Amino acid sequence: MVMAPARMAYDHISKNISVIKELIARAATRAGRKADDITLIAVSKFFHPDEIRAAYECGQRIFGESYAQELKAKSQELSDLDIEWHFVGHLQKNKAKFVTPISSYIQSIDSIELAETIDRRASNSIDCLIEVNLAQESSKSGIDPSAVIALAEGISAFKNIKLKGLMTIPPYDNNPESSRKYFIALRNLLDKTNESLKLDQPLLELSMGMSTDFEVAISEGATMVRIGTSIFGERK
Ligand SMILES: *Cc1c(COP(=O)(O)O)cnc(C)c1O
Repeated sequence: MVMAPARMAYDHISKNISVIKELIARAATRAGRKADDITLIAVSKFFHPDEIRAAYECGQRIFGESYAQELKAKSQELSDLDIEWHFVGHLQKNKAKFVTPISSYIQSIDSIELAETIDRRASNSIDCLIEVNLAQESSKSGIDPSAVIALAEGISAFKNIKLKGLMTIPPYDNNPESSRKYFIALRNLLDKTNESLKLDQPLLELSMGMSTDFEVAISEGATMVRIGTSIFGERK
């Protein structure tokens, strides 16, 4: 069979997806969990729509993007595909109007003002996570852990936002074990938020773990892992 050159160039993507899925399944088993309880988000920022298409052809349906304009352009170019877009980057209020109609999920709410804007811009209810800056790094977005419960409480009043849980990006470290304490902290914070809010439906989602540390995240209860480099390669 003669393969189109473009297709051959993306052979690594299908291999990487199989490997990652196998590693997710094994990490789940080690933790006494089911592989199906962990959602793989392929973070495609900076990668070409053809590379997203290659991943889609392997059955991947959920993709994460970090920049509003880039998400908008790619979603238009790939409008023939049944993709579920997750917005995972820092979202400025004035960009919410691009992101809200395209995204199934916004993983990066970090203020009541942003939540209010999303609520106003959304025509249907949109799933969201609160992004928590656990190490209180000034370079990172995300809300201070001490302010999460109040924000969750505030969001519960908005009818177009379905709050599902929490997201975090731990400080960068080559050693995946360095992330563990942050993953534990996010899980504890989710429990605390649920105890304090007493919602009809408790928040269940923990979006944590990237290329280097997703196996540690799964062992600490991640329900979503966001993986870019290990699927698509190094970002230019
Ligand atoms: C880029 C990005 C990822 C993916 O990171 P990798 O290390 O390439 O797997 C995950 N989450 C967020 C929020 C990102 O911006």
